Order: sequence, then C-alpha cells, then structure tokens
Amino acid sequence: MKIVSAETMLKNARKDGYAVGQFNINNLEWTKAILTAAQAKQSPVILGVSEGAAKYMVGYKTVVNMVEGMLEALNITVPVAIHLDHGSYEGALECIEAGFSSVMFDGSHYPIDENLAKTKAIVAKAKAKGISVEAEVGSIGGEEDGVTGAGEIADPEECRRIAATGITMLAAGIGNIHGTYPDNWEGLRLDVLKEIGETTDRIPLVLHGGTGIPDAMVTEAISYGVSKINVNTECQLVFAAATRQYIEAGKDKVGKGFDPRKLLKPGYEAIIRVVQEKMDLFGSSNKA
Ligand SMILES: [Zn+2]
Repeated sequence: MKIVSAETMLKNARKDGYAVGQFNINNLEWTKAILTAAQAKQSPVILGVSEGAAKYMVGYKTVVNMVEGMLEALNITVPVAIHLDHGSYEGALECIEAGFSSVMFDGSHYPIDENLAKTKAIVAKAKAKGISVEAEVGSIGGEEDGVTGAGEIADPEECRRIAATGITMLAAGIGNIHGTYPDNWEGLRLDVLKEIGETTDRIPLVLHGGTGIPDAMVTEAISYGVSKINVNTECQLVFAAATRQYIEAGKDKVGKGFDPRKLLKPGYEAIIRVVQEKMDLFGSSNKA
C-alpha cells in the first residue's frame, strides 16, 4: 500500500471513538518496528518525523523513500501516513514537496492572527495535494528538538477559529508535556479539552506528549475527541533500556554479539511491544 494522508483514518477514529497513534521515527530500526507492530495489530499508524530527526535521517526525501521501500518489501497493508511533527512554516512547505502525506505546522509561538494566516497558507498548498494538516494552539510543555514550550493552556475560542481554517486535526495544549512527566504534574485539563471538543465542529483533536499519561486519562481524553496521540519518548526509553540490558549482560562479547543486527535487536523488539500496547490502549487495533 502507498502512504496515505491522515484524514480518513482520523475521521474514522473521531467517529468511532478511538485514537490513532503517531509514533516518531529516528532510523531504520524504529521505522521497521513501528510498521511491523501496526501490521500485526491491523492498526492504522502515523509515522512522526521531527525536523531534527529528518536531518538525522539525511533529509525528507530519504525518509519518504525508506518508508515506501518498507511498505512494499514488508507487504504492509494497513494505512500509513508520514507526518512532519512540529514543523516550521518552511519545513512544512518542504515536506509537502518531498512527498510527505501529512504535515504539522506549529505556529503556536506566533500571535494567534499570524498563526491563523500561516496555517491557512499551508492548508491551501497541502489540500491541493491531498495532504493532511495539523495546527497547534496553546503550547505543549517541555522540550522538543531544542524548542521549549511553556505549556500554555489553549483558549477554546482560538481553537474554534483555527479549526475553521480547513485543517485536518488540531493539537491543543491542555497541560500535556513532551518527555517524561514531573512528579508534581497536575494532570490534563480535561475540562478545557471537553470544551474544545464541543466548539471545534468534531475535528479530530491531537494529544501530544503521550508518554506517561495515566491510561484512564488517555481513555477519557479520547471520549472528548482526541483521535491522534503522539508517542515518542516511551519508545526511546524502552529502546535504551533493552540495549543497556544486552550490553550489561555482556552479550555483545559472546560470539558475534557485537553485530549491530544482534546488538539493536532487543531495542527493536521493545519498540514493537510498546507500539502494540499503545494500539490496544488507544483502541486502533483491528481498525485498519
Ligand atoms: Zn509534540
């Protein structure tokens, strides 16, 4: 199957009350693990690519070609979108040209009118090519690719205005944080999320910072319209832990245990497990 936009999978999710996971990729192993998990779970999936990760993977076109090659060679039949995560205006335009099927333009740090104008311009270019667009209002706390958000709670009226620009899905800051959650975290503002869900004409909502939000809170967020949940840090943590365990057990010193295909295998398998667990939790398993 060819890559698809995130529009149909998210509309279906919003209608039927589940969420599709966005799992960020960093390299070949990550991508193969996430696609393998999605196929096994018969779940639609969104591969998230930050501008920093794209640079690491030698550019947007390299990412598109790698994913397309895997879809064919692994016989992936579930819907797969390649999505720019927290894109700048220029980055979103580049991805639209490079063959991405979905882009996020994160204009949350601009004044609302500038965010609206820039989002509209991206929507016009993306829609012409059948590419889905995510916009953001408010900001997600924590750090991502060197950009630190203060964690500003979104204003439902601003959400309503940006949802009306023709975007496919909307990320709203509701106390969610990138990375791991601090012990004194106050939880998601589910009251604000509920209000946003009611004022944005049933647009699919996006929950960033999906690592470490209690399962019950995730389920409640889905009931208010969250149809896409971004998971990044959790895959990194389990990959690192599994790799550490392999090396600390001295397995790299046994036989050809130093072979990267062996060395990276426990981390690869750990990612498959986490992604499958999330698909079950989000309710996207068997929805492909
Ligand atoms: Zn994010």
